[in-house]
Amino acid sequence: MIVGRFGMTSVASVCVFCGSRVGNDSRYVEAARALGHGIASRGMRLVFGAGSIGLMGVVADAAAEAGGEVVGIIPEFLRRLEVGRTESDQFIVTDSMHSRKQRMFEMSDAFISLPGGLGTLDETFEIITWRQLKLHHKPIVIWDVAGYWKPLVGLVDATIQNGFSAPENRELFTMAETLDEVFSALVPTSDAAPVEDSTRL
Ligand code: AMP
Repeated sequence: MIVGRFGMTSVASVCVFCGSRVGNDSRYVEAARALGHGIASRGMRLVFGAGSIGLMGVVADAAAEAGGEVVGIIPEFLRRLEVGRTESDQFIVTDSMHSRKQRMFEMSDAFISLPGGLGTLDETFEIITWRQLKLHHKPIVIWDVAGYWKPLVGLVDATIQNGFSAPENRELFTMAETLDEVFSALVPTSDAAPVEDSTRL
């Protein structure tokens, strides 16, 4: 996180959660490419799961092609399965999924979810629930490419309607329809924890 002259902060390092497959609608790949390019062209660092397959690989390739800094973080046991993208600027190998997620969290000022499968759901919900527990106040943006995440919003709304979740939990993350909306939502929240000069590792 970068701290400006008046204590304002901006996102310098962004983590993208997304599928290890590309899905069956070309708009998913187009969005992943645009996001990777957009992150790099705004001077932000990309943190991702270090796989070269699926949307993960598309985002990372696009960011690297646009001259951006790319950090991949992968647990040892997934290196072969997810074809570790070793040409990233930093290729970090962890001993477990837990340490991978912790490292991704620590190295990122904000989180963006693209379409993906169960792993993406897990990562997205973990970071949302950590925010619910006030373990962090970092922005979380879900890019609803081609309406892919509508059922997820319906499920969150159902938890609220049925009394299992506080209405304000709907504010823990932002739904974005377009790439511009994604980047507009990457604003550090007013309830942010005390800022440091730099939290980049
Ligand atoms: P998927 O969305 O299932 O294609 O997975 C996308 C990424 O999520 C992959 O890099 C997985 O390694 C990662 N992931 C994180 N947590 C999990 C989990 N609990 N189960 C499966 N994959 C996970």
